Amino acid sequence: MSKVKLADVRLIGNSLQADLLIVPPSASTLETLLSRYRNSGSDKLIDLGGDLEMMLRVSAVKIVDTLPEIEGWKFVDECVLLGERFKVMIVEAVRSKCPRCWTYTAGVEGDLCMRCVNVLSGQ
Ligand SMILES: [Zn+2]
Repeated sequence: MSKVKLADVRLIGNSLQADLLIVPPSASTLETLLSRYRNSGSDKLIDLGGDLEMMLRVSAVKIVDTLPEIEGWKFVDECVLLGERFKVMIVEAVRSKCPRCWTYTAGVEGDLCMRCVNVLSGQ
């Protein structure tokens, strides 16, 4: 199993500056487990509950069918989990840093992310 420590990838200073893209094998146990993270739109990264993001210490986890072409810095690797081989890609977070929780999940620089807005409004 491939282990990637984001701190060892020195091109980004903090794992929260990264988004993680995962391509699970289709019709696999892994795909079933990760299905709640599958994106149905381009702007749904902050509406996924955040459990996997918190465990992996990244700002967003996105389940995709194929890895997209990305300009700029990226790290691509293959991993094995539950006996199933899958691809991962780590890229620079696409959203802005939330000043409250420091994750890169805010829509605009200086704004709070939706999770923090909900916490502060008591929802
Ligand atoms: Zn926040």
